[in-house]
Amino acid sequence: MKRNMQELISQMTLEEKASLCSGLDFWHTKGIERLGIPSIMMTDGPHGLRKQRASADNLGLFDSVPATCFPSAAGLASSWDRELIGKVGIALGEECQAEDVAILLGPGANIKRSPLCGRNFEYFSEDPYLSSEMAAAHIQGVQSQGVGTSLKHFAVNNQEHRRMTTNAVVDERTLREIYLASFEGAVKKGQPWTVMCAYNQLNGEYCGENERLLTDILKDEWGHEGFVVSDWGAVNERTDGLAAGLELEMPSSGGAGDRKIVEAVKSGKLSENKLDAAVERILSIVFKAVDSKKADASYDPEAHHQLAREVARESMVLLKNEDGILPLPKSGKIAVIGQLAKQPRYQGGGSSHIKPTKLEDISEELAKSAGSGSEILFAPGYDLGSDNTDPQLLKEALQLAEDASVVILFVGLPDRYESEGFDREHLNLPLNQSELIEAVTAVQTQTVIVLSNGAPVEMPWIGSVKAVLEAYLGGQALGGAIADILFGDANPCGKLAETFPVQLSDNPSYLNFPGDGDLVEYKEGIYVGYRYYDKKKLRPLFPFGHGLSYTTFEYGGLAVDKDSMNDSDSMHVSVNIKNTGSKVGKEIVQLYVRDVRSSVSRPEKELKGFAKVALEPGEARTVTFTLDKRSFAYFDVEVNDWHVETGEFEILVGKSSAEIVLKRNIRLNSTVSKAKTYTRNSTVGDLMENQRAATIVTDLLKHSPFGSSNGEGEGEGEGMSELMAAFLKYLPLRGLVAFSGGGLTVESLDSLLERLNQGDKE
Ligand code: BGC
Repeated sequence: MKRNMQELISQMTLEEKASLCSGLDFWHTKGIERLGIPSIMMTDGPHGLRKQRASADNLGLFDSVPATCFPSAAGLASSWDRELIGKVGIALGEECQAEDVAILLGPGANIKRSPLCGRNFEYFSEDPYLSSEMAAAHIQGVQSQGVGTSLKHFAVNNQEHRRMTTNAVVDERTLREIYLASFEGAVKKGQPWTVMCAYNQLNGEYCGENERLLTDILKDEWGHEGFVVSDWGAVNERTDGLAAGLELEMPSSGGAGDRKIVEAVKSGKLSENKLDAAVERILSIVFKAVDSKKADASYDPEAHHQLAREVARESMVLLKNEDGILPLPKSGKIAVIGQLAKQPRYQGGGSSHIKPTKLEDISEELAKSAGSGSEILFAPGYDLGSDNTDPQLLKEALQLAEDASVVILFVGLPDRYESEGFDREHLNLPLNQSELIEAVTAVQTQTVIVLSNGAPVEMPWIGSVKAVLEAYLGGQALGGAIADILFGDANPCGKLAETFPVQLSDNPSYLNFPGDGDLVEYKEGIYVGYRYYDKKKLRPLFPFGHGLSYTTFEYGGLAVDKDSMNDSDSMHVSVNIKNTGSKVGKEIVQLYVRDVRSSVSRPEKELKGFAKVALEPGEARTVTFTLDKRSFAYFDVEVNDWHVETGEFEILVGKSSAEIVLKRNIRLNSTVSKAKTYTRNSTVGDLMENQRAATIVTDLLKHSPFGSSNGEGEGEGEGMSELMAAFLKYLPLRGLVAFSGGGLTVESLDSLLERLNQGDKE
């Protein structure tokens, strides 16, 4: 229905307008009955609906209505499957419609800076492109059902430690290329109805009061049309927040925030126009929700459970499979060891913690898949509530292990190890679990590990186990999904969306995480995740993009539609993938870009495209990617924009970040002239980068002792020592006065600068 918002707002009192800018209670916006403005409900999110009936909290403590629990974002991202995540979004949207929820609080697009962050299970990736693509798919799916999303937590909320007060200090280039890029793509592609501002400060200002973040970048630059909502309790100074672009405060502040807004308008501190604009943004979403409400909406819990199983299968990552131990034969004596097989860890703790519609029992599912041809025996092996080895439980487990044809050992992180609200302090499994692995593998060589965790763990035992299946937090249907993969009814097809380091201290943020007091400096800069391991040539335990299959794929025919392009243009890349094995399978094809020579420090390669393809045995398909300026650019802080340097780039296609199988060189031409202003401190080397300036300087030096040994390498003076050339390269213009043999004088320096600077703008 079309409404005239301005007309509606003009009928409101100042107090009414202010009242719309904060919540009614924990989960609802306020309405204004006399003007027909309804109240709507928003609730968590992101991978299931947490609608509380009575008592409300943001820690997932009180009960909520049953809802389908899908794998959390760490798993979803490992599917690298936009379409599948879109389907999850649709299912979530249907459940919201059925429960009268207008906005689902998610997805989370924060970057996994450190594997220690307690909330990594709720985030997608260490890579901004992958993360933003996954977030966009989630948003599009949910919103296709007439239900809004809340992209969170904007921005740079990468740790739980002191999350409500910490100050993340990040340089501009890192912010743009890594932390904001993860949100940017999701906002532009998905246009989430709302964006949730983070608790923390960014470069000294609370995110909820950061005008540059909430208005200049989010609204003006990226074109976000909806409203910004505070994370629950993230408001520091309400009026500063509103002025900066934070429209809605959640939950209710009991009227305190509203009163401050009224006073600020009355005193002239806040313009009423600003308040009107905030109200208009809120109302446009409230009415969108009302207009999109489906009467008598319902959903099929069984169909959603089946979808959860499909998604879990696609999200799990087969990390190791020595001697092809997997898939297991459906025969023999199978020992299932580990309490996590009985008491599965299938979702994370905190605000995303939901009540599932049902929960599959892992050992039952294994028994069903294995059929009557095999015998399945169970031993708990350890106590999930403790880190200490229980000698009796260990003994039972070893007896079973010794006697079995194969052991499936379930290990992972208990709830108490990993949750919203705090970070981990190490990457170890509980001691009783690692001792169990050691003891079991000493008596049984055929050991398969199944991991349940939201983020990487160290695996000092990796050499003594035959296979490792990373099941992440697999949602309510994890049991069936694990059984499908272990017994080969499904072919594993997930790949890591994050690097697994050999040890915590290898991680780039190690020396600066979680910071000192409230100060956390992102000193590793753009070198997050594989960008760091690549550059340092540091071998991780498992690289970004890694994941095994029961079939094999061959890559070939990498082709580009042009060998050279302007940065204003786009390019198509295609590659042929063939299933060369004997099983149906899916491959995740990854495309990375490398700037061969750059004037700024850049990663060895960066992910700029990916596709998941399903192939029958023997089948081949062509996958295509489109690359544009952004695929080749870095964020240039001098011009405050994305910039591509003219020159050679490599297109790298591979199975993981560490397994590039095809390569192709292309050339990019920049269409942007970076008008530089030269000063007396500009170096000769800087000047030589610009053709016109180079001609002027070469001419100037003609009769100097440097002759023409100025980096050009041709003409008179060729053969000048390398040392002289290097000296000249870093010599500032003011220094040339003394070394140019009279070519440049103090007097002529000013006119030279004038000529150089004019010349560049001509
Ligand atoms: C979390 C948000 C969540 C909100 C509401 C906060 O503590 O950080 O992610 O949406 O609570 O439960």
